[in-house]
Amino acid sequence: MEYASQVLYDALIQSTDDYLYLCNMKTGVFRYSPALVAAFELPGEVVKSPLIYWRQIVHPDDWERFYKSNMEIGENKRDSHNVEFRARLRSGEYIWLRCRGHLMRDEYGEPLLFAGIMQHLGRQNKIDPLTQLFNQHVFIERLQEGIADEGLERLAVMVLDVDDFRQYNALYSREFGDELLRTLARTIQALLPENSDLFRLEGNHMGLLVSNSSEQEILSLFQTFQKRLQHMKRWQAEKINVQLSAGCAFFPKDGTLSGELYQYAEYALQYAKQHGKNQLVLFTEEILKEKNTRLELVRKLRYAVAHDYQGFYLHYQPQVNGSTGKITGVEALMRFQDQEGRRISPIEFIPILEAEGMISSTGPWVLRQAVRQARDWVKKMPDFALSINASAMQVNAPEFLPLLRQILEEEKFPRENLIIELTESCAVQNLNVFRDKFEQLQSMGIRVAMDDFGTGYSSLEILKNAPIDIVKIDRSFVKDILHSRFDATFISFIVSICHIVNIQVCLEGVETEEEFAFLKNMHLDCIQGYYFGRPMEGAAITGLLELSVSDKQTN
Ligand code: C2E
Ligand code: CA
Ligand code: CA
Repeated sequence: MEYASQVLYDALIQSTDDYLYLCNMKTGVFRYSPALVAAFELPGEVVKSPLIYWRQIVHPDDWERFYKSNMEIGENKRDSHNVEFRARLRSGEYIWLRCRGHLMRDEYGEPLLFAGIMQHLGRQNKIDPLTQLFNQHVFIERLQEGIADEGLERLAVMVLDVDDFRQYNALYSREFGDELLRTLARTIQALLPENSDLFRLEGNHMGLLVSNSSEQEILSLFQTFQKRLQHMKRWQAEKINVQLSAGCAFFPKDGTLSGELYQYAEYALQYAKQHGKNQLVLFTEEILKEKNTRLELVRKLRYAVAHDYQGFYLHYQPQVNGSTGKITGVEALMRFQDQEGRRISPIEFIPILEAEGMISSTGPWVLRQAVRQARDWVKKMPDFALSINASAMQVNAPEFLPLLRQILEEEKFPRENLIIELTESCAVQNLNVFRDKFEQLQSMGIRVAMDDFGTGYSSLEILKNAPIDIVKIDRSFVKDILHSRFDATFISFIVSICHIVNIQVCLEGVETEEEFAFLKNMHLDCIQGYYFGRPMEGAAITGLLELSVSDKQTN
């Protein structure tokens, strides 16, 4: 049996360009065909316990599926498996594989041999089933062909993405999201010139290759997409405004390798999204520099997180009573200073902490620091309110509530004195999930504030459907308050509605005496802004509180 299968195996690897594998179930040793070892980061043809290698090769999103399917064989639950997954080639590129295998048993019914093939789906599956566009493999093939084609002078490599796509999926449904992508693909395709091809790339990105056209032509092509989208009746009927961002790199100006050009187009797309969306950005050296600066910052933040949060610290900004201007609490705000002493704004580093998965450790750190600090303030002023910011990602994590409970208990901080602030745009994305979390927070005695209120899509829906205690009106409404009737009316309107349903209103961004004078009679519950104090060190808050408490005693 052993011999026969060896011969068969040797014959097979000569006659197919699929990848073959074989496992001796008695010893657990795998044998992989040379082509497989050449393609993927495997240590050799004969491997014992290969799962640790596959863990690195299989796409993280597909790992669970891959692992489960293998375990079912190992645990004797099944005799065959058939699983599709993405795997990373030695070149770094991911490809789709379909792995089919079968278990053979010996005469006693014991597992003997597990054998199968992995099929490179890229070779057959060139079409994205949702949009019917060519998929990423074809995109890369065409890109490589273009680069190799001597008759080609220039090639524009564009990557496109729908702005806030996840929002549509969450607000409507997956089906709606799918339909949107399908329609979009058809719409763009209909606008394309002869010398171009459209592809569906990873995630929801689309790729566009345009040969021999100038930067100007590319920019105006993108404008035609935008104009067309603006006038799409079917989306107008849904009252949504679908917008696109795109990034573009040019061969040979920006690079001469397919991987490089694709990556640069992606960088330019990320840049477009980070700088206002709804635009096409052409790749430049500055974008690469900015990308590198970001990578550098990621490195610094990782280092800090791994070294006892060295460089992170908190500032506290006073919150005052809306009519008297007396301090009632603070908002804790995170700060970061790198080892060269440079201060980096939270607007810059918080999104990175979120994107790189570090917020799950910095979030609890902030909470613990803040409640330790604020314990004394609560002793001085029993209804002192400590507000903490939490990212949607943090709140979504299953460990959020248990950890919160644990920290408050360990640090002996009264729950009634804590407010958790969450930004409006996050909550809208998934109201149902958040409603549940908010209710649990409230049942623990913790208050919930909706931050940056008025900047999201459906502020009023939030008021109606989310169980919140406090609304924090975004500071953009204060900027022009002395001149804008809309802003003033908006604020007093929100105050009126909120008070009817027992929600308190806090206004952010009051910077001058005139603004405060104007707002004083608007029945705001609380105000926060530079006029009453910038974010400051804990000691400075202690000073303010002592003043305010002794004020009360002399009055
Ligand atoms: P935010 O939660 O809306 O915090 C208020 C921001 O407005 C703070 O900026 C504060 O310094 C600023 N601000 C307050 N009053 C005024 C004013 O009168 N005028 C002007 N121009 N600005 C004012 P900061 O500290 O730069 O924080 C920026 C954002 O970073 C915060 O916005 C929040 O979203 C995020 N952030 C800060 N700390 C944390 C944290 O610990 N966790 C999380 N998840 N996010 C945080
Ligand atoms: Ca806040
Ligand atoms: Ca805010």
